[in-house]
Amino acid sequence: MDLALLDATLGELGQPGFRAGQVWRWTATGAPGYAAMTDVPAGVRAALGERVPFSTLAVAAEAHARDGTVKALFRTGDGRPVEAVLMRYRSGRRSVCVSSQSGCPLTCTFCATGTMRFARNLTASEILDQVLHFRRIEPVDHLVFMGMGEPGFNMDAVLGAAARVPEIGITHRRTTVSTVGWLPGIERLAASDLPLRLAFSLHAPDDALRSRIMPVNDRYPIAAVLDACAAYHAQRRRRVFIEYVMLAGVNDAYPQALQLAQLLDPRIYKVNLIPYNPTGAYDGSSRGAIDAFKAVLEEHGLRATVRLTRGRDIDAACGQLAAKATAAAG
Ligand code: SF4
Repeated sequence: MDLALLDATLGELGQPGFRAGQVWRWTATGAPGYAAMTDVPAGVRAALGERVPFSTLAVAAEAHARDGTVKALFRTGDGRPVEAVLMRYRSGRRSVCVSSQSGCPLTCTFCATGTMRFARNLTASEILDQVLHFRRIEPVDHLVFMGMGEPGFNMDAVLGAAARVPEIGITHRRTTVSTVGWLPGIERLAASDLPLRLAFSLHAPDDALRSRIMPVNDRYPIAAVLDACAAYHAQRRRRVFIEYVMLAGVNDAYPQALQLAQLLDPRIYKVNLIPYNPTGAYDGSSRGAIDAFKAVLEEHGLRATVRLTRGRDIDAACGQLAAKATAAAG
């Protein structure tokens, strides 16, 4: 829902100031449409139905994996593709992964989104509408900005959306912004007063390899980004997540695990090892290689977890569904 348009329209309809909050509360708690908002006058509901689309996004496709993961491909009002994923865990946790941009201007070599044309930054309302789509299915309690795009390029909209997610049921402490290390974005995040968690997608233990698989590293090398992450940790007192995708024969060898362990202060970082959801360019590391890598990190005092693979059968990795749809559209 375009919240600025909602405010303007309610103003034009001569509605009292509390009406926008009333409509938002219904929306944030999973109402399927204006018709359900029983304490909003019927005439106002009808007018809103004509003038303010209930979502800024139209669902173009939805895929349901055997493990409960749901992936949605949306189109913005101007036809741009946007992906979001709902991950369901046995613990009851319901985590939504949202996109902050349609496409991505960066070109990480392991990422399907990086192969698509960059369209534009999403608005805060377009980000919230991804979360709300899943909230209409069931209550959700975790959020991660890790879908298409680099949140650091669009921090105003990311923070604008993040500010409102507690009203949808997701606390700030359960909201994570994941960046490839775009320093101005991390600094902007640090300057905000929202207690969000930070994740740094590192993916390589040295600059030479990282620049090869993530060209953004030429602009902001590892040491500079880790300095910013350490400053964020000092300010927030919450561990920073290090995301590390496991690519067979590329970044998963024993010496690389050692190098990573030496690079990261266990008091500041927690490592998430991510089994690779192949998009063509690389093979994923074997389970044995991932376990061995994890063991090295743990021997050096680092907390490390292996991310559960979700939605493999539905192309749930970042950008996979949209990249396929774009290719199919020619
Ligand atoms: S991994 Fe993230 S930053 Fe890199 S190309 Fe993909 S969407 Fe962009």
